[in-house]
Amino acid sequence: MPRITAIQVYELLPKKNCGACKEPSCMSFALKLLTRGKTPFNCPNLTETERQALIALLRPPVREVVIGSGDKAVKVGGEEVMYRHELKFFNPCVISIDVSDLMSDVEIKNRIDFVKNFTIERVGQKLRLDAIAIRCASSEKNKFENAVKFVSDNFDGPIILCSFNPEILKSGAEILKGKKPLLYAATKDNWKDVVRIAKEYNAPIAIYSPNLSELGTIASNIENLEKFDQIILDPGIQVLGNELKETLNNFTMLRRSAVKGVRELSYPLMAVPAVAWVGSGDNITSAYYECYIGGIMLDRFASLLIIHSAEPWTVLPLITLRQSIYTDPRTEPEAKPGLFEFGNPDENSPVLVTTNFSLTYFTVSNDLKKSNLNCYLLVVNTKGLAVDTSVATGDLSGSKLKDAILQFEVGKKIKHRRIVIPMLASRIRGDIEDQTGWEVLIGPRDSSQIAGFLRDNWKV
Ligand code: SF4
Repeated sequence: MPRITAIQVYELLPKKNCGACKEPSCMSFALKLLTRGKTPFNCPNLTETERQALIALLRPPVREVVIGSGDKAVKVGGEEVMYRHELKFFNPCVISIDVSDLMSDVEIKNRIDFVKNFTIERVGQKLRLDAIAIRCASSEKNKFENAVKFVSDNFDGPIILCSFNPEILKSGAEILKGKKPLLYAATKDNWKDVVRIAKEYNAPIAIYSPNLSELGTIASNIENLEKFDQIILDPGIQVLGNELKETLNNFTMLRRSAVKGVRELSYPLMAVPAVAWVGSGDNITSAYYECYIGGIMLDRFASLLIIHSAEPWTVLPLITLRQSIYTDPRTEPEAKPGLFEFGNPDENSPVLVTTNFSLTYFTVSNDLKKSNLNCYLLVVNTKGLAVDTSVATGDLSGSKLKDAILQFEVGKKIKHRRIVIPMLASRIRGDIEDQTGWEVLIGPRDSSQIAGFLRDNWKV
């Protein structure tokens, strides 16, 4: 499906250039709408009919679905392209941890606390888990209701209710009234009942079918007959051998169909890597395999994952991969070049060198802060390249470092003439010494070792 153009959007605007939308012109507003910097609600001069026409035109090929309410609500889907570099991905994959109504309250509480408390800081962003999925494993309404109530009392984020029994889904939805839980799942046998509940509780639904044509038919019936479009598709995943290959093909086909405008498949996709636990060996192997499958599905367009393992070592790879996939390639953060102070450095303090590759910069600066060091960090403009890459391309060299020392007036801050470069740049040590006339120390390979390195080696 060809992307809509600014002219197409502009044609639907009032063309008054009045500035009420805080844009200098209607054309500028049209451009902002295309990149989702504004919404049709920001122009007060549109009639309701015009606004709806604009919303329909701007609707992304992959429908956007909201789970949860208030400031903890999450959006899934809403994507326009197959690959990030073609535009950007808008809504990061939602990662949820499951609990079941057969678990004890203590077990459920531990898992809720894990979701609430797990956080890491990476490249200047705080990465977290998003949601809890409650499985009805008991097939008993009472037990499920108790689990839903317990989760609801202890967790204010998005919740996914999991059962193929509409009556059980309804009992959970009643407890979560107003909280927009995702109802998982509608199937060929129960979709009418599930949609009725979804409408009653204003909740989105997930359709499950491993048969892609059946999946499309159910979605099409729900949208056309029931006029309901808050839908997520779960084509199921197989985790072994050729069937895993087929799963990847299915996810790719579904996303491609959505982007090409196949209406009955124009919904976000979800995957349940937790199935890797079914019939597998020990817990460690299961968790490891689940993490591996989750990573593959993240890469293959899943907008929502349900995982079982609540261990930092399984969650960490998934949330860091998610951050990489969903970073806007147009504004990929580059650290700012310059001379930065850590602690209270003086004229005898060490000067450390790094590049403006954001991942390196944020890792090094976090390590320096954690170590309570008094030092300078000279960030060289390597066009956002990492240390080893910039050495290879010549973006980090003796002359580049000399320029940085002059530009940021490093010599005025210190009275010694020594700098510490990362070990990955050790092969340009001679070049740096020739160009700058400064003494060069080769620092550690890993910035977490800088404190120990300085303790042993920094003497002025
Ligand atoms: S408020 Fe509407 S009419 Fe006024 S400039 Fe913005 S888009 Fe144009």
